[in-house]
Amino acid sequence: MADPRELYQQVILEHNKKPRNFGKINGCTHQAEGHNPLCGDQLQLTLIVQEGIIEDIQFEGRGCAIDVSSASLMTTAVKGKTVKDTLNLIQGFRALVRGEWNPATHGDLGKLVVFHGVKDLPVRVKCAVLPWATLQSALDGSPIASTE
Ligand code: ZN
Repeated sequence: MADPRELYQQVILEHNKKPRNFGKINGCTHQAEGHNPLCGDQLQLTLIVQEGIIEDIQFEGRGCAIDVSSASLMTTAVKGKTVKDTLNLIQGFRALVRGEWNPATHGDLGKLVVFHGVKDLPVRVKCAVLPWATLQSALDGSPIASTE
C-alpha cells in the first residue's frame, strides 16, 4: 500500500498543476483579495451567493503549490454549500492546519484532510490558510483579506 503521505502529496501536486475553478466570474456578488507577503502568494476570489448558497466560486492569482492546491480544493469543497456550512468548514480547515482538528467538533473535512501535513510546516500554514481567510473576508463583505 502506498504511503498515505505520498498520496496526500499527489493530490496537492495534481491540484496545483490543474487548478479547479480557475478564473473570474463576471457579475459576481462577492469578492476579495488575499496576499501572503511571506511567500508571495496572491489570489482573487469571485463568488455568486444567492439565498445563502454559494452557487459559484472561482479564483485567480499565483502562489506556491500549497496555496494554489488549497484554493482549488476549497472551491470544489464549498461550491453548492450554504454560507453557514462554509463558515464552519473554514473553522475546521484552520483547526486542521494547526493540528487542532477534531472530527467531533469540526465535522468531516473530506478530501481537505490532505492538508493535515501542513501543521508540521509552520511557514506553509499561512499559504494553506490564505484562500480560506480570503473566502471568509469575501463572505463578510470586507474588500481586502487579512492574511493573519
Ligand atoms: Zn505559499
